[in-house]
Amino acid sequence: LAARLDLLRDLPAELLSGEHINLYANIEFPHEVDACQQRGAEGIGLYRTEFLYLGQDQEPTEEDHYQVYAKVVQDMGGSPIVIRTLDLGADKIARGVGESRVAESNPFLGLRSIRLSLRNISLFRTQLRAILRASMLGEIHVMFPLVSTLHELRQAKMLLTDIMEDLDEEGIPYDRNLKIGMMVEVPSSVIMLDHFAKEVDFISIGTNDLVQYTLAVDRSNKEVAALYNNCDPAVLRLIEMTVRLAKEADIKTTLCGQMGGNPIYAMLLIGLGLRSLSITPSAIPEIKKVCRSVSLAQCEEVARRVREMENAREIKRYLREEVRRAV
Ligand code: PEP
Ligand code: MG
Repeated sequence: LAARLDLLRDLPAELLSGEHINLYANIEFPHEVDACQQRGAEGIGLYRTEFLYLGQDQEPTEEDHYQVYAKVVQDMGGSPIVIRTLDLGADKIARGVGESRVAESNPFLGLRSIRLSLRNISLFRTQLRAILRASMLGEIHVMFPLVSTLHELRQAKMLLTDIMEDLDEEGIPYDRNLKIGMMVEVPSSVIMLDHFAKEVDFISIGTNDLVQYTLAVDRSNKEVAALYNNCDPAVLRLIEMTVRLAKEADIKTTLCGQMGGNPIYAMLLIGLGLRSLSITPSAIPEIKKVCRSVSLAQCEEVARRVREMENAREIKRYLREEVRRAV
């Protein structure tokens, strides 16, 4: 098996019809870079940075941020890395950050993610400064999570510009062409994507949250887990709309939710127009194998069939059969 994985690592993620699919990795810890390389990731499409805060008593300093980003960039040897700014709150709670706030009755609808960062500007500033400094060391992109309004995106971008000016004044170098992206994981951002797309260089679809917010199902609540479904037709429509609007605006779309690493969805996602997935490193060989076994026409036919189906169960059953047949 190890030999087969090795073999796959060096083969391109290419459809039978020749189209290339970008396969990037999702990581949370710097040591996961090893796994990314073993599995042949083209880069890191989602670097979750919460670990710097979780389980720590003290807030990380700018230098703490910088050191870990520098290590990841250097260890990845020149491949692109998307650093997502802090996504704390709700399921990712850190001691100290925003602790004085009142208990929330709906944490997933509360002060989490970009909202929390915008409320704690000094914390946000510290992270953004470190990202900008690290951008001199390799191809780093910055991505904002859970953006739900244009105002939020503009606030975050303004802060970034402000920090760039500070760095200029201090004579500290950074990549002036740093690419700025946002997660698309709230239905409002899909609905308004034509506007968002004018203000970012790329987007990444976070299906883990998009499913929860589209279907009003808490992703961590077992009582309603049966309603949480990646292939609910409403979710699929939003994914397709996102891909279309981003294409019209000529910006790159990646999908970085868990569903991207599940082989049963690969044909559908490609058929819906996706050409870039960011997934857990261990899933890369399997997804690559699916890619190498199917043509674009087959994937588009799968998407066409799925569009006609009206419930998640039927879709899932169909997708399972298709992938079994194809691989
Ligand atoms: C997502 O929501 O799909 C995502 C990738 O982010 P996270 O799982 O960290 O919320
Ligand atoms: Mg998310």
